[in-house]
Amino acid sequence: MCHNSEEAMSRISHGIQRCQRCGRAGTRKFAVPGEGRCDANLMLLGEAPGKKEDRTGKPFIGRAGAYLDKVFRFHSLDRDKVFITSVLKCYHPGSPKKPQIEACLSWTEKQIELLQPELILVMGRAAEQGLFGKRTDGKYEIHWKDIPCIVTCHPAAAMRFPQRHKQFQKDFKRFVGWAEKEEWL
Ligand code: URA
Repeated sequence: MCHNSEEAMSRISHGIQRCQRCGRAGTRKFAVPGEGRCDANLMLLGEAPGKKEDRTGKPFIGRAGAYLDKVFRFHSLDRDKVFITSVLKCYHPGSPKKPQIEACLSWTEKQIELLQPELILVMGRAAEQGLFGKRTDGKYEIHWKDIPCIVTCHPAAAMRFPQRHKQFQKDFKRFVGWAEKEEWL
């Protein structure tokens, strides 16, 4: 079962690596499809790869990734228990643009449909707007298709602003607590 999903996930990743749907194709070195087990119950969705991710093709390995790793350690959660990706798969020096997010979204949809995670942590405005087509107005919990999602701020914002840090910690705790209660870990 996992073997077939691994193949299907790697086909999606190859499609992302060859994708030319938006201008980000011209500014990337490596596309960043995402990383994690094909049977992960939990998914984390960020905004867009930064420079470090672009140089390696791996998600969340820069400063925001280091912050995220600390939060994982604090909650004794193994990063390899989750599938982690972003709503934009390629680096661009500018901020995420709506047409880019729209052009890229079907890759994330394919990943979610294949993975069928039990719970998604949606991190940051671009991820929120991309997945739901709108801001969620601070709704604490919302569904994408029938998959529950917790919407929170981006770790890069959480690193910089104490209020965001508090919000991220609280939402992450809820994310992990929910997963533990349902035995998804
Ligand atoms: N920020 C994101 O949203 N995604 C990454 O992969 C890296 C930083």
